[in-house]
Amino acid sequence: MRKKIVAGNWKMNNDLNQTILLIEKLKKIEINEVSVMIAPSSLFLKTAKDLLDDFQIEVVSQNVHQENKGAYTGEVSCDMLKSIGISTTLIGHSERRAYFNEDDEVLLEKVKYAISSGMKIIFCFGEQLIDRKSNKYFEIVKNQLENTVLKLDSECWSNIILAYEPVWAIGTGETASPSQAQEMHEFVRNCVSNCYGDLISEEVSILYGGSVKPSNAYEIFSNKDVDGGLIGGAALVSSDFNEIIKANS
Ligand code: PEP
Repeated sequence: MRKKIVAGNWKMNNDLNQTILLIEKLKKIEINEVSVMIAPSSLFLKTAKDLLDDFQIEVVSQNVHQENKGAYTGEVSCDMLKSIGISTTLIGHSERRAYFNEDDEVLLEKVKYAISSGMKIIFCFGEQLIDRKSNKYFEIVKNQLENTVLKLDSECWSNIILAYEPVWAIGTGETASPSQAQEMHEFVRNCVSNCYGDLISEEVSILYGGSVKPSNAYEIFSNKDVDGGLIGGAALVSSDFNEIIKANS
């Protein structure tokens, strides 16, 4: 059975003290069958990892570079992440695509490199508002997947989590309706099934991301193809994150 997951993407928020404080609060959360992950700043991954050593919260990276080492100022490699015990990374977040010019070609390199390094990935994708308004959202999402993860060998799929994040819903307060989320998740699962068969498509967890909060989490997560959420703003408030985890239990 595929995993239910709630992952918090902290983005460029929380200094060291705030990171420690938030983690201390998260440690009090009761976690049952949901996999919980947090992605703090790469600067504090080791601290977070040490603080959560005995807890059921996985610390994951927000990003990784596509090369293993070399003259790439400011970047972080899989080997570096693995050396501090981090084995999962986000790839393809819309903010990386928009502000750091990460296109499908680079994302495919990242995805291949991370998986061949033995890491798991949370691969993010989703359409812009203009694509939604012009009814091109299925086509755009299919292209994003076909240019990246759908190029991988079937063995890679046990290391992939997908995260559908419509760009118009990220940090805007506007959420996809439960039926908009479900129809896209079903479409994505079908795309995976067409390439790799039902065994793989039924096992892959597909998260929804975009202004999930305690008030809408349950309705979104109740859909049969929505296996959890990638949470931005609400992951910075422990009580909200706790409610969102409960909504997926
Ligand atoms: C995100 O950044 O992945 C995200 C979903 O953000 P928010 O929940 O704030 O919309």
